Amino acid sequence: MRSSQYLLSTLKETPADAEVISHKLMLRAGMVRRVASGLYTYLPTGVRVLRKVEQIVREEMNKAGAIEVLMPMVQPAELWQESGRWEQMDAELLRFKDRHTRDFVLGPTHEEVITDLVRREITSYKQLPLSLYQIQTKFRDERRPRFGVMRAREFLMKDAYSFHLSQDSLQQTYDAMYQAYCNIFTRLGLNFRPVLADTGAIGGSMSHEFHVLAASGEDAIAFSDASDYAANIEMAEALAPQGEPAAPSEVLTEVATPNVKTVADVATLLNQSSAKVCKTLVVYATKADAKATQTLVALVLRSDHELNEIKAEKLPQVQSPLVFASEEEIRAAIGAGPGSLGPVASKIPVIVDRSAAHLTDFICGANKDGYHLTGVNWQRDIQDYTVADIRNIVEGDASPCGKGKLVIKRGIEVGHIFQLGDKYSQALKAGVLNEEGKHQIMTMGCYGVGVSRIIAAAIEQNNDEYGIIWPDAIAPFQIALIPMNMHKSVRIEEATVRLYNELTAAGFEVLFDDRKERPGVMFADMELIGIPHSIVIGERNLDNQQVEYKNRRTGEKAMLDIPGVVAAMQ
Ligand code: ATP
Ligand code: MG
Ligand code: MG
Ligand code: MG
Repeated sequence: MRSSQYLLSTLKETPADAEVISHKLMLRAGMVRRVASGLYTYLPTGVRVLRKVEQIVREEMNKAGAIEVLMPMVQPAELWQESGRWEQMDAELLRFKDRHTRDFVLGPTHEEVITDLVRREITSYKQLPLSLYQIQTKFRDERRPRFGVMRAREFLMKDAYSFHLSQDSLQQTYDAMYQAYCNIFTRLGLNFRPVLADTGAIGGSMSHEFHVLAASGEDAIAFSDASDYAANIEMAEALAPQGEPAAPSEVLTEVATPNVKTVADVATLLNQSSAKVCKTLVVYATKADAKATQTLVALVLRSDHELNEIKAEKLPQVQSPLVFASEEEIRAAIGAGPGSLGPVASKIPVIVDRSAAHLTDFICGANKDGYHLTGVNWQRDIQDYTVADIRNIVEGDASPCGKGKLVIKRGIEVGHIFQLGDKYSQALKAGVLNEEGKHQIMTMGCYGVGVSRIIAAAIEQNNDEYGIIWPDAIAPFQIALIPMNMHKSVRIEEATVRLYNELTAAGFEVLFDDRKERPGVMFADMELIGIPHSIVIGERNLDNQQVEYKNRRTGEKAMLDIPGVVAAMQ
Protein backbone atom coordinates (compact mmCIF):
# COMPACT_ATOMS: atom_id res chain seq x y z
CA MET A 1 0.00 0.00 0.00
CA ARG A 2 1.26 3.43 -0.90
CA SER A 3 0.55 6.12 1.69
CA SER A 4 -0.42 8.55 -1.06
CA GLN A 5 -3.22 6.20 -2.12
CA TYR A 6 -4.27 5.33 1.42
CA LEU A 7 -6.20 7.13 4.14
CA LEU A 8 -3.64 7.63 6.91
CA SER A 9 -5.55 10.30 8.83
CA THR A 10 -3.02 10.57 11.66
CA LEU A 11 -3.37 13.36 14.21
CA LYS A 12 -0.61 15.30 15.96
CA GLU A 13 -2.73 16.50 18.84
CA THR A 14 -4.47 14.21 21.30
CA PRO A 15 -8.23 14.75 21.18
CA ALA A 16 -9.38 16.18 24.48
CA ASP A 17 -12.25 13.78 25.07
CA ALA A 18 -10.09 10.63 25.12
CA GLU A 19 -9.30 9.39 28.63
CA VAL A 20 -7.30 6.18 28.21
CA ILE A 21 -4.18 5.65 26.13
CA SER A 22 -5.74 3.19 23.69
CA HIS A 23 -8.54 5.60 22.86
CA LYS A 24 -6.08 8.46 22.37
CA LEU A 25 -3.83 6.37 20.16
CA MET A 26 -6.64 4.88 18.09
CA LEU A 27 -7.77 8.41 17.28
CA ARG A 28 -4.26 9.71 16.65
CA ALA A 29 -3.20 6.72 14.55
CA GLY A 30 -6.23 7.17 12.33
CA MET A 31 -7.95 3.93 13.31
CA VAL A 32 -11.38 5.13 14.37
CA ARG A 33 -13.56 8.20 14.39
CA ARG A 34 -16.49 8.88 16.69
CA VAL A 35 -19.86 9.17 15.00
CA ALA A 36 -21.92 9.53 18.18
CA SER A 37 -21.63 8.30 21.76
CA GLY A 38 -20.35 4.70 21.64
CA LEU A 39 -20.56 4.56 17.83
CA TYR A 40 -17.41 4.50 15.73
CA THR A 41 -16.35 4.43 12.10
CA TYR A 42 -13.32 2.25 11.51
CA LEU A 43 -10.84 3.90 9.16
CA PRO A 44 -8.71 1.63 6.90
CA THR A 45 -5.98 1.07 9.51
CA GLY A 46 -8.61 0.15 12.10
CA VAL A 47 -10.28 -2.25 9.70
CA ARG A 48 -7.01 -3.99 8.92
CA VAL A 49 -6.39 -4.69 12.62
CA LEU A 50 -10.01 -5.70 13.22
CA ARG A 51 -9.85 -8.24 10.37
CA LYS A 52 -6.62 -9.71 11.75
CA VAL A 53 -8.12 -10.22 15.20
CA GLU A 54 -11.26 -11.63 13.62
CA GLN A 55 -9.26 -14.11 11.56
CA ILE A 56 -7.30 -15.44 14.53
CA VAL A 57 -10.53 -15.89 16.46
CA ARG A 58 -12.15 -17.59 13.45
CA GLU A 59 -9.25 -20.00 12.96
CA GLU A 60 -9.24 -21.05 16.60
CA MET A 61 -13.02 -21.48 16.65
CA ASN A 62 -12.84 -23.68 13.57
CA LYS A 63 -10.03 -25.65 15.16
CA ALA A 64 -12.19 -26.18 18.26
CA GLY A 65 -14.88 -27.68 16.04
CA ALA A 66 -17.31 -24.76 15.98
CA ILE A 67 -19.11 -23.95 12.73
CA GLU A 68 -19.63 -20.41 11.49
CA VAL A 69 -23.10 -18.94 10.97
CA LEU A 70 -24.37 -15.38 10.67
CA MET A 71 -27.48 -14.21 12.47
CA PRO A 72 -29.35 -10.94 12.02
CA MET A 73 -28.58 -8.01 14.25
CA VAL A 74 -32.28 -7.12 14.31
CA GLN A 75 -34.31 -9.62 16.29
CA PRO A 76 -38.06 -9.99 16.82
CA ALA A 77 -39.42 -9.22 20.30
CA GLU A 78 -41.30 -12.54 20.38
CA LEU A 79 -38.10 -14.51 21.00
CA TRP A 80 -37.12 -12.22 23.85
CA GLN A 81 -40.60 -12.52 25.32
CA GLU A 82 -40.30 -16.29 25.11
CA SER A 83 -37.02 -16.30 27.04
CA GLY A 84 -38.29 -13.75 29.54
CA ARG A 85 -35.50 -11.28 28.83
CA TRP A 86 -37.89 -8.81 27.19
CA GLU A 87 -39.10 -8.14 30.74
CA GLN A 88 -35.84 -8.70 32.61
CA MET A 89 -33.52 -6.46 30.65
CA ASP A 90 -33.42 -2.74 31.19
CA ALA A 91 -32.66 -0.01 28.68
CA GLU A 92 -29.38 -1.67 27.64
CA LEU A 93 -31.67 -3.65 25.30
CA LEU A 94 -32.58 -1.25 22.52
CA ARG A 95 -36.19 -1.80 21.46
CA PHE A 96 -37.96 -0.32 18.48
CA LYS A 97 -40.92 -0.87 16.17
CA ASP A 98 -41.07 -1.50 12.45
CA ARG A 99 -43.58 0.11 10.07
CA HIS A 100 -46.20 -2.48 11.07
CA THR A 101 -45.67 -1.42 14.72
CA ARG A 102 -44.19 -4.82 15.54
CA ASP A 103 -41.57 -4.84 18.31
CA PHE A 104 -37.93 -5.57 17.58
CA VAL A 105 -34.59 -5.31 19.38
CA LEU A 106 -31.04 -4.66 18.26
CA GLY A 107 -29.24 -7.83 19.35
CA PRO A 108 -26.99 -7.35 22.39
CA THR A 109 -26.32 -11.13 22.27
CA HIS A 110 -27.86 -14.04 20.36
CA GLU A 111 -28.95 -16.81 22.75
CA GLU A 112 -32.59 -16.45 21.72
CA VAL A 113 -31.99 -16.48 17.97
CA ILE A 114 -29.58 -19.40 18.06
CA THR A 115 -31.80 -21.47 20.36
CA ASP A 116 -34.71 -20.81 18.01
CA LEU A 117 -32.60 -21.92 15.07
CA VAL A 118 -31.38 -25.08 16.74
CA ARG A 119 -34.83 -26.13 17.99
CA ARG A 120 -35.98 -26.06 14.36
CA GLU A 121 -32.93 -27.62 12.72
CA ILE A 122 -31.81 -30.23 15.21
CA THR A 123 -34.15 -33.12 15.98
CA SER A 124 -32.00 -36.05 17.04
CA TYR A 125 -29.32 -36.83 19.60
CA LYS A 126 -27.25 -38.03 16.64
CA GLN A 127 -26.71 -34.41 15.58
CA LEU A 128 -25.22 -33.44 18.94
CA PRO A 129 -23.03 -32.01 20.30
CA LEU A 130 -23.14 -28.96 18.08
CA SER A 131 -21.19 -25.69 18.35
CA LEU A 132 -22.09 -22.70 16.21
CA TYR A 133 -20.46 -19.30 16.19
CA GLN A 134 -20.61 -15.98 14.43
CA ILE A 135 -18.60 -12.78 14.29
CA GLN A 136 -21.26 -10.13 14.32
CA THR A 137 -22.08 -6.61 15.37
CA LYS A 138 -23.79 -6.25 18.75
CA PHE A 139 -25.64 -3.29 20.14
CA ARG A 140 -25.90 -2.55 23.83
CA ASP A 141 -27.19 0.79 24.94
CA GLU A 142 -24.49 1.03 27.60
CA ARG A 143 -25.26 3.36 30.46
CA ARG A 144 -21.85 4.89 30.14
CA PRO A 145 -20.09 4.25 26.84
CA ARG A 146 -16.45 5.21 27.22
CA PHE A 147 -12.83 4.57 26.43
CA GLY A 148 -13.55 4.46 22.71
CA VAL A 149 -14.15 0.96 21.34
CA MET A 150 -13.39 -0.52 24.75
CA ARG A 151 -16.93 0.15 25.95
CA ALA A 152 -18.85 1.05 22.86
CA ARG A 153 -22.56 0.75 22.17
CA GLU A 154 -22.07 -0.90 18.81
CA PHE A 155 -19.20 -3.38 18.83
CA LEU A 156 -17.96 -6.56 17.20
CA MET A 157 -18.24 -9.81 19.12
CA LYS A 158 -17.50 -13.41 18.38
CA ASP A 159 -20.26 -15.37 20.03
CA ALA A 160 -20.44 -19.15 20.07
CA TYR A 161 -23.16 -21.41 21.42
CA SER A 162 -22.99 -25.13 22.06
CA PHE A 163 -25.77 -27.69 22.44
CA HIS A 164 -25.62 -30.99 24.32
CA LEU A 165 -27.59 -33.75 25.96
CA SER A 166 -25.30 -34.29 28.92
CA GLN A 167 -23.24 -32.29 31.38
CA ASP A 168 -20.19 -34.34 30.37
CA SER A 169 -20.56 -33.29 26.77
CA LEU A 170 -21.04 -29.64 27.77
CA GLN A 171 -17.95 -29.84 29.97
CA GLN A 172 -15.92 -31.24 27.07
CA THR A 173 -16.87 -28.40 24.75
CA TYR A 174 -16.39 -25.88 27.56
CA ASP A 175 -12.87 -27.20 28.10
CA ALA A 176 -12.18 -27.05 24.35
CA MET A 177 -13.39 -23.44 24.25
CA TYR A 178 -11.27 -22.58 27.28
CA GLN A 179 -8.27 -23.93 25.41
CA ALA A 180 -9.27 -22.13 22.20
CA TYR A 181 -9.47 -18.85 24.14
CA CYS A 182 -6.01 -19.42 25.61
CA ASN A 183 -4.75 -20.06 22.06
CA ILE A 184 -6.43 -16.90 20.77
CA PHE A 185 -5.01 -14.57 23.40
CA THR A 186 -1.59 -16.19 23.18
CA ARG A 187 -1.53 -15.79 19.39
CA LEU A 188 -2.64 -12.17 19.81
CA GLY A 189 0.46 -11.63 21.92
CA LEU A 190 -1.46 -10.46 24.98
CA ASN A 191 -0.67 -10.78 28.66
CA PHE A 192 -3.94 -12.34 29.84
CA ARG A 193 -5.44 -14.38 32.62
CA PRO A 194 -8.44 -16.68 32.71
CA VAL A 195 -10.35 -16.09 35.93
CA LEU A 196 -13.34 -17.59 37.64
CA ALA A 197 -16.23 -15.25 37.05
CA ASP A 198 -19.00 -14.29 39.39
CA THR A 199 -21.74 -16.75 38.67
CA GLY A 200 -23.32 -16.39 42.07
CA ALA A 201 -25.68 -13.78 40.83
CA ILE A 202 -26.97 -15.79 37.92
CA GLY A 203 -26.97 -19.29 39.25
CA GLY A 204 -24.13 -21.60 40.12
CA SER A 205 -22.87 -22.86 36.79
CA MET A 206 -19.28 -22.66 35.67
CA SER A 207 -18.02 -19.48 34.09
CA HIS A 208 -14.63 -18.04 33.25
CA GLU A 209 -13.64 -14.64 32.02
CA PHE A 210 -10.45 -13.86 30.14
CA HIS A 211 -8.80 -10.64 31.23
CA VAL A 212 -6.06 -8.63 29.65
CA LEU A 213 -4.06 -7.06 32.47
CA ALA A 214 -3.96 -3.28 32.15
CA ALA A 215 -4.13 -0.27 34.45
CA SER A 216 -7.19 1.08 32.68
CA GLY A 217 -9.18 -2.12 33.24
CA GLU A 218 -12.60 -1.65 34.71
CA ASP A 219 -12.54 -4.93 36.60
CA ALA A 220 -10.29 -6.04 39.42
CA ILE A 221 -9.15 -9.60 39.24
CA ALA A 222 -7.70 -11.49 42.13
CA PHE A 223 -5.25 -14.31 41.76
CA SER A 224 -2.89 -16.30 43.87
CA ASP A 225 0.77 -15.97 43.07
CA ALA A 226 1.33 -19.58 44.06
CA SER A 227 -1.62 -21.54 42.72
CA ASP A 228 -4.01 -21.31 39.81
CA TYR A 229 -6.61 -19.55 41.90
CA ALA A 230 -8.01 -16.56 40.03
CA ALA A 231 -11.30 -14.74 40.27
CA ASN A 232 -12.91 -11.64 38.92
CA ILE A 233 -13.94 -8.89 41.22
CA GLU A 234 -16.07 -6.71 39.03
CA MET A 235 -15.28 -3.20 40.08
CA ALA A 236 -17.34 -1.30 37.55
CA GLU A 237 -16.98 2.33 38.41
CA ALA A 238 -16.81 1.99 42.13
CA LEU A 239 -13.12 2.75 42.30
CA ALA A 240 -13.10 5.84 40.19
CA PRO A 241 -15.26 8.73 41.26
CA GLN A 242 -17.77 9.79 38.63
CA GLY A 243 -16.21 11.62 35.74
CA GLU A 244 -12.63 10.83 36.67
CA PRO A 245 -10.46 8.50 34.64
CA ALA A 246 -9.68 5.10 36.04
CA ALA A 247 -6.91 5.04 38.60
CA PRO A 248 -3.53 4.83 36.89
CA SER A 249 -2.20 1.92 38.87
CA GLU A 250 -2.45 -1.58 37.48
CA VAL A 251 -1.83 -3.36 40.73
CA LEU A 252 -4.43 -3.08 43.40
CA THR A 253 -3.04 -4.88 46.37
CA GLU A 254 -4.36 -2.36 48.82
CA VAL A 255 -6.35 -4.78 50.87
CA ALA A 256 -6.63 -4.42 54.59
CA THR A 257 -6.98 -7.60 56.58
CA PRO A 258 -8.35 -6.69 59.96
CA ASN A 259 -8.81 -9.85 61.87
CA VAL A 260 -12.53 -9.85 61.72
CA LYS A 261 -14.15 -13.12 62.55
CA THR A 262 -17.29 -12.33 64.44
CA VAL A 263 -20.30 -10.14 64.07
CA ALA A 264 -19.09 -8.00 66.92
CA ASP A 265 -15.78 -7.47 65.13
CA VAL A 266 -17.65 -6.26 62.10
CA ALA A 267 -19.69 -3.85 64.11
CA THR A 268 -16.52 -2.51 65.73
CA LEU A 269 -14.86 -2.17 62.38
CA LEU A 270 -17.75 -0.25 60.96
CA ASN A 271 -17.90 2.00 63.97
CA GLN A 272 -14.20 2.74 63.79
CA SER A 273 -14.20 3.33 60.10
CA SER A 274 -13.57 6.87 59.12
CA ALA A 275 -14.33 5.96 55.57
CA LYS A 276 -17.12 7.78 53.88
CA VAL A 277 -18.55 6.45 50.70
CA CYS A 278 -20.36 8.44 48.11
CA LYS A 279 -21.49 5.55 46.04
CA THR A 280 -23.85 2.71 46.29
CA LEU A 281 -21.94 -0.48 46.65
CA VAL A 282 -23.40 -3.80 45.83
CA VAL A 283 -21.45 -6.62 47.29
CA TYR A 284 -21.87 -10.27 46.59
CA ALA A 285 -19.88 -13.03 48.08
CA THR A 286 -20.09 -16.46 46.62
CA LYS A 287 -18.66 -19.85 47.23
CA ALA A 288 -19.06 -21.09 43.76
CA ASP A 289 -16.17 -23.24 42.80
CA ALA A 290 -17.31 -26.30 40.93
CA LYS A 291 -14.27 -28.30 41.85
CA ALA A 292 -14.68 -27.34 45.50
CA THR A 293 -10.94 -27.14 45.92
CA GLN A 294 -10.76 -23.38 45.89
CA THR A 295 -13.11 -20.79 47.19
CA LEU A 296 -14.25 -18.05 44.96
CA VAL A 297 -14.84 -14.70 46.47
CA ALA A 298 -16.57 -12.39 44.12
CA LEU A 299 -17.46 -8.87 44.84
CA VAL A 300 -19.61 -6.79 42.63
CA LEU A 301 -19.32 -3.13 43.36
CA ARG A 302 -21.52 -0.78 41.50
CA SER A 303 -22.14 2.89 41.56
CA ASP A 304 -25.57 4.36 42.12
CA HIS A 305 -26.70 4.65 38.57
CA GLU A 306 -26.05 1.02 37.91
CA LEU A 307 -28.06 -0.18 40.85
CA ASN A 308 -31.34 -0.40 39.02
CA GLU A 309 -29.77 -2.52 36.34
CA ILE A 310 -28.49 -4.94 38.90
CA LYS A 311 -31.77 -5.08 40.70
CA ALA A 312 -33.53 -5.85 37.47
CA GLU A 313 -31.08 -8.33 36.04
CA LYS A 314 -29.43 -10.14 38.82
CA LEU A 315 -30.89 -9.75 42.25
CA PRO A 316 -34.21 -11.48 41.62
CA GLN A 317 -32.21 -14.58 40.90
CA VAL A 318 -30.26 -14.66 44.10
CA GLN A 319 -31.48 -15.43 47.53
CA SER A 320 -33.35 -12.63 49.26
CA PRO A 321 -30.99 -9.73 48.71
CA LEU A 322 -30.69 -7.31 51.53
CA VAL A 323 -30.83 -3.65 50.83
CA PHE A 324 -29.55 -1.16 53.31
CA ALA A 325 -30.20 2.49 52.82
CA SER A 326 -27.58 3.70 55.24
CA GLU A 327 -24.58 2.76 57.27
CA GLU A 328 -26.77 2.89 60.35
CA GLU A 329 -29.02 0.26 58.89
CA ILE A 330 -26.26 -2.17 58.18
CA ARG A 331 -24.80 -1.55 61.63
CA ALA A 332 -28.15 -2.28 63.14
CA ALA A 333 -28.54 -5.43 61.12
CA ILE A 334 -25.09 -6.62 62.05
CA GLY A 335 -25.56 -5.70 65.64
CA ALA A 336 -28.65 -7.86 65.73
CA GLY A 337 -26.49 -10.95 65.34
CA PRO A 338 -26.19 -13.94 63.03
CA GLY A 339 -29.22 -14.78 61.04
CA SER A 340 -30.42 -11.23 60.96
CA LEU A 341 -28.98 -10.83 57.47
CA GLY A 342 -31.42 -13.37 56.21
CA PRO A 343 -31.16 -17.07 55.59
CA VAL A 344 -27.63 -18.30 55.97
CA ALA A 345 -26.56 -19.88 52.73
CA SER A 346 -23.57 -20.26 50.51
CA LYS A 347 -24.27 -16.86 49.11
CA ILE A 348 -25.54 -13.78 50.81
CA PRO A 349 -25.82 -10.71 48.71
CA VAL A 350 -25.58 -7.52 50.66
CA ILE A 351 -26.29 -4.14 49.26
CA VAL A 352 -24.72 -1.30 51.12
CA ASP A 353 -26.04 2.05 50.18
CA ARG A 354 -23.79 4.64 51.73
CA SER A 355 -23.53 8.28 51.15
CA ALA A 356 -20.22 9.94 51.78
CA ALA A 357 -16.84 10.35 50.20
CA HIS A 358 -14.40 7.50 50.63
CA LEU A 359 -14.42 3.88 49.72
CA THR A 360 -14.80 0.94 52.00
CA ASP A 361 -15.94 -2.33 50.56
CA PHE A 362 -17.07 -5.48 52.20
CA ILE A 363 -16.32 -9.08 51.74
CA CYS A 364 -19.01 -11.17 53.26
CA GLY A 365 -19.51 -14.84 53.49
CA ALA A 366 -21.36 -17.40 55.42
CA ASN A 367 -21.20 -20.86 56.82
CA LYS A 368 -23.74 -22.87 58.67
CA ASP A 369 -23.14 -20.97 61.89
CA GLY A 370 -23.61 -17.49 60.61
CA TYR A 371 -22.20 -14.91 58.31
CA HIS A 372 -18.90 -13.12 58.35
CA LEU A 373 -18.30 -9.70 57.00
CA THR A 374 -15.12 -7.78 56.75
CA GLY A 375 -14.23 -4.34 55.55
CA VAL A 376 -11.79 -3.93 52.73
CA ASN A 377 -10.41 -0.56 51.99
CA TRP A 378 -8.89 -0.43 48.57
CA GLN A 379 -7.22 2.89 49.10
CA ARG A 380 -5.07 2.43 52.16
CA ASP A 381 -3.43 -0.11 54.46
CA ILE A 382 -1.39 -1.81 51.78
CA GLN A 383 -1.21 -5.41 52.77
CA ASP A 384 -1.41 -8.62 50.82
CA TYR A 385 -4.37 -10.86 51.31
CA THR A 386 -3.55 -14.53 51.30
CA VAL A 387 -5.86 -17.06 49.76
CA ALA A 388 -6.09 -18.55 53.21
CA ASP A 389 -7.28 -15.21 54.57
CA ILE A 390 -10.02 -15.07 51.98
CA ARG A 391 -10.99 -18.61 52.65
CA ASN A 392 -11.10 -17.93 56.36
CA ILE A 393 -13.29 -14.94 55.88
CA VAL A 394 -15.67 -16.76 53.62
CA GLU A 395 -15.74 -20.00 55.49
CA GLY A 396 -15.21 -18.64 58.93
CA ASP A 397 -12.55 -21.29 59.29
CA ALA A 398 -9.29 -20.72 61.21
CA SER A 399 -7.11 -23.86 59.78
CA PRO A 400 -5.15 -22.01 56.98
CA CYS A 401 -4.58 -24.08 53.92
CA GLY A 402 -4.47 -21.50 51.12
CA LYS A 403 -1.44 -21.10 48.96
CA GLY A 404 0.46 -17.97 48.21
CA LYS A 405 -0.54 -14.36 48.32
CA LEU A 406 -3.61 -12.98 46.72
CA VAL A 407 -2.64 -10.41 44.12
CA ILE A 408 -5.25 -8.04 42.85
CA LYS A 409 -4.79 -6.35 39.50
CA ARG A 410 -6.90 -4.49 37.04
CA GLY A 411 -8.15 -6.36 34.01
CA ILE A 412 -10.06 -5.75 30.80
CA GLU A 413 -12.64 -8.45 30.11
CA VAL A 414 -11.95 -9.64 26.58
CA GLY A 415 -13.65 -13.01 26.69
CA HIS A 416 -16.28 -14.86 28.66
CA ILE A 417 -17.29 -18.51 28.58
CA PHE A 418 -20.32 -19.83 30.38
CA GLN A 419 -22.16 -23.05 31.05
CA LEU A 420 -25.73 -21.93 30.57
CA GLY A 421 -27.42 -25.21 31.40
CA ASP A 422 -31.00 -25.29 30.15
CA LYS A 423 -31.93 -21.66 30.86
CA TYR A 424 -32.72 -20.82 27.23
CA SER A 425 -33.41 -24.28 25.86
CA GLN A 426 -36.03 -24.82 28.58
CA ALA A 427 -37.69 -21.46 27.99
CA LEU A 428 -37.78 -22.01 24.23
CA LYS A 429 -38.51 -25.73 24.51
CA ALA A 430 -35.46 -26.67 22.49
CA GLY A 431 -35.16 -30.42 22.65
CA VAL A 432 -34.32 -33.48 20.59
CA LEU A 433 -35.19 -37.15 20.59
CA ASN A 434 -32.65 -38.92 22.78
CA GLU A 435 -31.31 -42.46 22.41
CA GLU A 436 -34.41 -43.85 24.09
CA GLY A 437 -36.61 -42.02 21.64
CA LYS A 438 -37.79 -39.55 24.29
CA HIS A 439 -37.93 -35.78 23.89
CA GLN A 440 -35.14 -34.21 25.95
CA ILE A 441 -34.30 -30.55 26.50
CA MET A 442 -30.75 -29.69 25.45
CA THR A 443 -28.15 -28.14 27.70
CA MET A 444 -26.12 -25.17 26.42
CA GLY A 445 -22.89 -23.25 26.69
CA CYS A 446 -22.10 -19.78 25.39
CA TYR A 447 -18.74 -18.24 24.61
CA GLY A 448 -18.04 -14.58 23.80
CA VAL A 449 -14.96 -12.71 22.62
CA GLY A 450 -14.92 -8.92 22.40
CA VAL A 451 -13.24 -8.67 19.00
CA SER A 452 -13.22 -4.87 18.82
CA ARG A 453 -12.42 -4.48 22.54
CA ILE A 454 -9.33 -6.64 22.00
CA ILE A 455 -7.85 -3.92 19.80
CA ALA A 456 -8.06 -1.38 22.59
CA ALA A 457 -6.81 -3.92 25.14
CA ALA A 458 -3.83 -4.77 22.93
CA ILE A 459 -2.91 -1.08 22.67
CA GLU A 460 -3.22 -0.63 26.43
CA GLN A 461 -0.48 -3.27 26.77
CA ASN A 462 1.62 -2.24 23.80
CA ASN A 463 2.50 1.43 23.53
CA ASP A 464 5.16 3.99 24.33
CA GLU A 465 5.54 7.76 24.13
CA TYR A 466 5.70 7.57 20.33
CA GLY A 467 2.56 5.53 19.79
CA ILE A 468 1.31 2.01 19.31
CA ILE A 469 3.63 -1.02 19.21
CA TRP A 470 1.64 -3.76 17.49
CA PRO A 471 2.21 -7.40 18.26
CA ASP A 472 3.18 -8.82 14.84
CA ALA A 473 0.06 -10.98 14.60
CA ILE A 474 -2.35 -8.04 14.45
CA ALA A 475 -0.27 -5.22 12.99
CA PRO A 476 -2.06 -3.32 10.20
CA PHE A 477 1.15 -3.59 8.15
CA GLN A 478 4.25 -5.56 9.02
CA ILE A 479 6.79 -3.34 7.30
CA ALA A 480 7.04 0.40 6.68
CA LEU A 481 9.24 1.53 3.81
CA ILE A 482 10.49 5.05 4.44
CA PRO A 483 12.42 6.61 1.53
CA MET A 484 14.41 9.80 2.28
CA ASN A 485 13.62 12.65 -0.08
CA MET A 486 12.40 10.26 -2.75
CA HIS A 487 10.85 13.05 -4.77
CA LYS A 488 14.29 14.51 -5.37
CA SER A 489 16.07 11.23 -6.15
CA VAL A 490 15.25 8.75 -8.90
CA ARG A 491 17.76 6.33 -7.40
CA ILE A 492 15.91 6.29 -4.05
CA GLU A 493 12.58 5.87 -5.76
CA GLU A 494 13.77 2.96 -7.88
CA ALA A 495 15.34 1.17 -4.94
CA THR A 496 12.22 1.65 -2.81
CA VAL A 497 9.85 0.48 -5.52
CA ARG A 498 11.98 -2.59 -6.09
CA LEU A 499 11.99 -3.43 -2.37
CA TYR A 500 8.27 -2.77 -2.18
CA ASN A 501 7.57 -5.18 -5.04
CA GLU A 502 9.84 -7.88 -3.65
CA LEU A 503 8.46 -7.68 -0.11
CA THR A 504 4.87 -7.60 -1.34
CA ALA A 505 5.52 -10.60 -3.61
CA ALA A 506 6.98 -12.43 -0.61
CA GLY A 507 3.63 -11.96 1.16
CA PHE A 508 4.42 -9.05 3.48
CA GLU A 509 1.96 -6.25 4.05
CA VAL A 510 4.01 -3.16 3.37
CA LEU A 511 3.18 0.50 3.82
CA PHE A 512 5.30 2.44 1.34
CA ASP A 513 5.39 6.02 2.59
CA ASP A 514 5.60 7.82 -0.73
CA ARG A 515 4.19 11.11 0.56
CA LYS A 516 6.04 14.34 -0.09
CA GLU A 517 6.73 14.75 3.61
CA ARG A 518 9.79 15.55 5.66
CA PRO A 519 11.53 12.41 7.01
CA GLY A 520 10.67 13.43 10.58
CA VAL A 521 6.97 13.45 9.78
CA MET A 522 7.16 10.03 8.12
CA PHE A 523 9.10 8.49 11.03
CA ALA A 524 6.64 9.91 13.54
CA ASP A 525 3.62 8.61 11.64
CA MET A 526 5.00 5.10 11.16
CA GLU A 527 5.88 4.91 14.85
CA LEU A 528 2.49 6.26 15.88
CA ILE A 529 0.69 3.67 13.74
CA GLY A 530 2.94 1.08 15.36
CA ILE A 531 4.26 -0.83 12.36
CA PRO A 532 6.64 -3.44 13.86
CA HIS A 533 9.43 -3.18 11.28
CA SER A 534 10.63 -0.22 9.27
CA ILE A 535 13.20 0.14 6.55
CA VAL A 536 14.75 3.50 5.72
CA ILE A 537 16.13 4.03 2.24
CA GLY A 538 18.70 6.87 2.08
CA GLU A 539 21.30 8.13 -0.39
CA ARG A 540 24.41 7.42 1.64
CA ASN A 541 23.50 3.80 2.45
CA LEU A 542 22.51 3.18 -1.15
CA ASP A 543 26.13 3.80 -2.11
CA ASN A 544 26.90 0.61 -0.15
CA GLN A 545 23.80 -1.19 -1.47
CA GLN A 546 22.35 -1.05 2.05
CA VAL A 547 19.24 0.13 3.87
CA GLU A 548 18.62 0.76 7.56
CA TYR A 549 16.29 -1.53 9.51
CA LYS A 550 14.58 -0.48 12.76
CA ASN A 551 12.54 -2.62 15.13
CA ARG A 552 9.62 -0.67 16.62
CA ARG A 553 9.48 -2.63 19.87
CA THR A 554 13.16 -2.96 20.77
CA GLY A 555 14.43 0.13 18.99
CA GLU A 556 17.20 -2.11 17.63
CA LYS A 557 18.73 -0.87 14.35
CA ALA A 558 20.70 -2.81 11.76
CA MET A 559 22.16 -2.26 8.31
CA LEU A 560 20.81 -4.70 5.74
CA ASP A 561 22.28 -5.52 2.35
CA ILE A 562 19.57 -4.81 -0.19
CA PRO A 563 19.64 -8.25 -1.82
CA GLY A 564 19.13 -9.82 1.63
CA VAL A 565 16.21 -7.69 2.85
CA VAL A 566 13.43 -10.15 2.06
CA ALA A 567 15.29 -13.00 3.70
CA ALA A 568 16.09 -10.84 6.74
CA MET A 569 12.40 -10.02 7.22
CA GLN A 570 11.33 -13.67 7.18
P1 ATP B 1 -18.66 -5.88 30.59
O1 ATP B 1 -18.55 -6.54 31.93
O2 ATP B 1 -17.38 -5.23 30.16
O3 ATP B 1 -19.86 -4.98 30.46
P2 ATP B 1 -20.10 -8.11 29.65
O4 ATP B 1 -19.79 -9.07 30.74
O5 ATP B 1 -21.38 -7.38 29.70
O6 ATP B 1 -18.89 -7.06 29.51
P3 ATP B 1 -20.44 -10.30 27.80
O7 ATP B 1 -21.92 -10.32 27.79
O8 ATP B 1 -19.72 -11.33 28.61
O9 ATP B 1 -19.95 -8.82 28.22
O10 ATP B 1 -19.95 -10.27 26.28
C1 ATP B 1 -18.81 -10.98 25.78
C2 ATP B 1 -17.65 -10.04 25.50
O11 ATP B 1 -18.05 -8.91 24.69
C3 ATP B 1 -17.06 -9.40 26.73
O12 ATP B 1 -16.17 -10.29 27.36
C4 ATP B 1 -16.36 -8.17 26.16
O13 ATP B 1 -15.06 -8.52 25.70
C5 ATP B 1 -17.23 -7.79 24.97
N1 ATP B 1 -18.05 -6.61 25.28
C6 ATP B 1 -19.11 -6.55 26.10
N2 ATP B 1 -19.63 -5.31 26.14
C7 ATP B 1 -18.87 -4.56 25.31
C8 ATP B 1 -18.90 -3.19 24.91
N3 ATP B 1 -19.83 -2.37 25.38
N4 ATP B 1 -17.97 -2.75 24.03
C9 ATP B 1 -17.03 -3.59 23.54
N5 ATP B 1 -16.96 -4.89 23.87
C10 ATP B 1 -17.86 -5.38 24.75
MG1 MG C 1 -21.83 -5.41 30.13
MG1 MG D 1 -18.57 -8.55 32.53
MG1 MG E 1 -19.07 -11.04 30.60
